[in-house]
This record gives sequence, structure tokens and C-alpha cells, in this order.
Amino acid sequence: KKITIAIDGFSSCGKSTMAKDLAREVGYIYVDTGAMYRCVTLYALHNGLFDKDNNIDIAELEKRMPQIVLSFSLNNTTGMPEACLNGENVELDIRSMEVSKRVSHIAALPFVRRALVEQQRRMGKEKGIVMDGRDIGTTVFPDAELKIYVTANARVRAQRRYDELKAKGIEADFESILHNVEERDYIDSHREVSPLTKAADAIELDNSRMTLSEQKQWLLDRFHE
Ligand code: C5P
Repeated sequence: KKITIAIDGFSSCGKSTMAKDLAREVGYIYVDTGAMYRCVTLYALHNGLFDKDNNIDIAELEKRMPQIVLSFSLNNTTGMPEACLNGENVELDIRSMEVSKRVSHIAALPFVRRALVEQQRRMGKEKGIVMDGRDIGTTVFPDAELKIYVTANARVRAQRRYDELKAKGIEADFESILHNVEERDYIDSHREVSPLTKAADAIELDNSRMTLSEQKQWLLDRFHE
């Protein structure tokens, strides 16, 4: 039986949609680990830990890590978890371009990854879980029973991000989203600690030309086989 499902891949490739669909269908918990890195970034932004050139006050952030409490609360309508930072729902704030531009630099810091990976492992202890991110199959749950590595053409991914932000009422510009997606892909796959890479035993999916329902069915088939 598949208890732990790891879904990794590039930015905005539809991982979270696929992961949510599967979790809803099979009654598992869904965890968006990208939201956790985004929350730490939002904290750093709100607390003046970036200077005007966007350098991070690393020593101060490390000192404050224990004060940064991340949790998820279930949305009454969708039933899906939403990110909370020190008890406040920040699900919308963490999707802003201000956060997107900085998050990969925060996510490259070893002490940040150590803290979040530890929390992610605790979340996966009891019940069935679908977790999406960059290092779930390689680092967080190397023993996951099902690992998926999702890719898609960069322009397709930027368009999806654009549509998603628009649907949430967040203003967006296609070219800057494309630039951000490509920049994060580069930083995420070149950092020193657990860079984005396909786990040896992951199943690769290029979903550039698949509809949402095809992706959902594809993942369900992998789950049940
Ligand atoms: O998934 P999402 O695009 O929201 O993730 C935002 C950023 O968080 C990624 O670009 C990456 O830098 C970081 N991240 C990570 N490891 C994860 C999930 C996200 O480094 N497991």
C-alpha cells in the first residue's frame, strides 16, 4: 500500500494541483512544502531581514528560526490546507512576486532546510500523505512508496502560474513570471543542499500537453498500480 507520495519538480509545473487532486480522491493529507519556504521568506520581508540590495541578514534569521511557527489550517470551502505564519493565515501573501523573487535564496540556506525538513518528516508520521516540493523524494522521504518527478516547458509553466494568480485576484505580468520561474529553476537545481533533481526511483511525467483531468487520472493510475 502506498502511504507516502512524493511529488517533486520545477516551479509551477502543476505539482500542487496534481497533489491536491490525489489527496482529495484518496483521503490523504496534502502538504505544500513550497508554502513553508515562502512563509519563512515572508517573515524575513516583514521583519526587515532583507537590505535594499536584497541581501539576507543570515545570522539574524538563524537566531529567529525558533520563533517562526508554520502551520496549516483547513479552508472550510475547499477542504484544502492553507499556510499560516505565527497563527496568521498568509496563503495569499506568500504568492506575491515580492516573495517569489526571494524565496529560492531563503530555501538555499542550510539551517532553513534543516528546520523545515524536520517538520515535514513529523507531518508524515501517522497517516497517508501527499507532499509536493523539490526534495521530497530525494531527502524528506527517500522511502516514499510513490515518487513522481514532474516537468513541463517553461512557457507553459509561466502561463499556468499567470492563470493561477489571476484566478486568485493577484495582479501579474507574464514576462516577469517567466523570468521568475526560470530563475528559481536555476537556483533550485544548483544550490548546495538537496538541489532539485529526479530521485533514481521516481517516475517522470512531462505534463506540458496534458489537461488537468488527464494529469489527475495519470496520477491515480500510478497510485493504484
Ligand atoms: O512550490 P513553490 O514554487 O511554491 O516553492 C517556492 C520555492 O521554495 C521554490 O522555488 C524553492 O526555492 C523552494 N522549495 C524548496 N524545497 C521544497 C519546496 C520549495 O527549496 N521542498
